[in-house]
Amino acid sequence: MTDHALQGLDGPVLHDEVIAARAPWRHRINAGQSLRIVDLEGNQAVDFLLYAAGDDSERYSAQDTIAAQANIFLRRGTPLLSNEGRTMMTITGTAVDYHDTIGGACSCESNTLRYGHHTKAQHACVDNFLDANLRDGRGKRDIVPNINFFMNVPVEADGALGIVDGISAPGLTVDLRAEMDVIVVVSNCPQINNPCNGFNPTPVRMIVTA
Ligand SMILES: [Zn+2]
Repeated sequence: MTDHALQGLDGPVLHDEVIAARAPWRHRINAGQSLRIVDLEGNQAVDFLLYAAGDDSERYSAQDTIAAQANIFLRRGTPLLSNEGRTMMTITGTAVDYHDTIGGACSCESNTLRYGHHTKAQHACVDNFLDANLRDGRGKRDIVPNINFFMNVPVEADGALGIVDGISAPGLTVDLRAEMDVIVVVSNCPQINNPCNGFNPTPVRMIVTA
């Protein structure tokens, strides 16, 4: 049977893994290698951070990325810049029009403020980022504003933000090429209090090619 998730990929597959719903993920991707993220069941936010493998004080910078392209949405061709102004990865393809980098990651603290104290024990992206980062010795202070692949955060003309129904659908993909050796840290978002995951967190697939 044809594996549609592999269509259009060039190099040999180096790594192919499904991240369970609500789970963290961490993986090194070397310069020249590519990562495809597959939204297997649709409407699943993939919270995403990058650290330089050689010196993790260099990491993804939403501010620099937005300022450099003078646009808040991440699209095909967007270079993902570090806090040193260097390109860490480039979005080489996307089946979704745009991706978010201003909505941030969900946390137990923000959940209780937004949705009530009864959400305190719910798992959150910040927990996942911390779990994955601790394996390299990074702590809470190393969690910076992140990318939300497949999350729809529209910005109105007056600057108002929303988190609304996903723009993604089952099997849609985003492709990234590493421009330096990077550590990718992901939270497969467990949020169930707003529509970013269709109120039903689901697995995503990560495919690394040479
Ligand atoms: Zn989340």
